[in-house]
Amino acid sequence: MTVLEERIRTDGVVSGEVLKVNSFLNHQMDIELFNEMGREFYRLFGDEGVTKLLTIEASGIGIACIAAQYFHTPVVFAKKNRSTNLSGDLLVTKVASFTHGTSYDVVVERAFLTPEDRVLLIDDFLANGAALAGLADLVRQAGATLVGAGVAIEKAFQPGGARLRESGLRVEALARIQRMRDGRIEFCSE
Ligand code: 5GP
Repeated sequence: MTVLEERIRTDGVVSGEVLKVNSFLNHQMDIELFNEMGREFYRLFGDEGVTKLLTIEASGIGIACIAAQYFHTPVVFAKKNRSTNLSGDLLVTKVASFTHGTSYDVVVERAFLTPEDRVLLIDDFLANGAALAGLADLVRQAGATLVGAGVAIEKAFQPGGARLRESGLRVEALARIQRMRDGRIEFCSE
């Protein structure tokens, strides 16, 4: 998606293997850009009969909410903290955090993911694939159908995308980064 690649090039800040996009995605959010991303996710997955978008707090939520206005579905976000006011039967899985180097439980109330659901995963970044694999596990536990995953930015030099695609999951990334070197960002299409 050219507009996203251009924005990453202009405003992205490279720090080792981490790309900081706080000015339009991870802190301040550019809603017009999110709207373009939502439209593109719908173009890619709109004919899959999606009934629910599933994301993980915090940065996936904004993107998923805007995308949901195209899909006309609810958004469920997996919570990283079990001690909040969750009730009833819980679906739980463990996710290793790429940015924090720790691992944590993510939780969804079973009532919000049912066997009738056709679920599209949405997230901001795909790196080692732990976040999406955790969400996919929650969908599996719920007995729902996993339609695919839409991510804004895939760092294709990390193994998550290849692993998830090899497992049979349809993964669509709106910008795929081939490498980041000396502050320069190269996209896969180049
Ligand atoms: P994964 O689970 O695929 O290793 O990492 C995905 C999660 O880690 C995303 O939800 C995102 O929050 C965070 N993440 C991974 N790499 C980056 C990065 O380069 N920049 C930012 N801002 N977040 C990242």
